[in-house]
Amino acid sequence: MSGSEAKKKEKTVKLEKVAEETGELIGKGIRKTWNVAKSFEKGLVGTLEKREERKDAASLTCQHCGASILPSSNFCARCGKKL
Ligand SMILES: [Zn+2]
Repeated sequence: MSGSEAKKKEKTVKLEKVAEETGELIGKGIRKTWNVAKSFEKGLVGTLEKREERKDAASLTCQHCGASILPSSNFCARCGKKL
């Protein structure tokens, strides 16, 4: 009787070990995914910053008052002078 009880205990220990190892593996996977997400975020921010720079370069400023003007508009929205 005591023999089977010892076996039961061993099985429980083994299961705990498996759970621990699985947990570690999951943790590693999450960390890996997190790193990928982080690098992706970095790339996304870089792309957005580049886009912002391009937007700045494309935007016009009024020669008369210095207000920023949409590239498609022909008149300054602030002083109303033709560009
Ligand atoms: Zn103006």
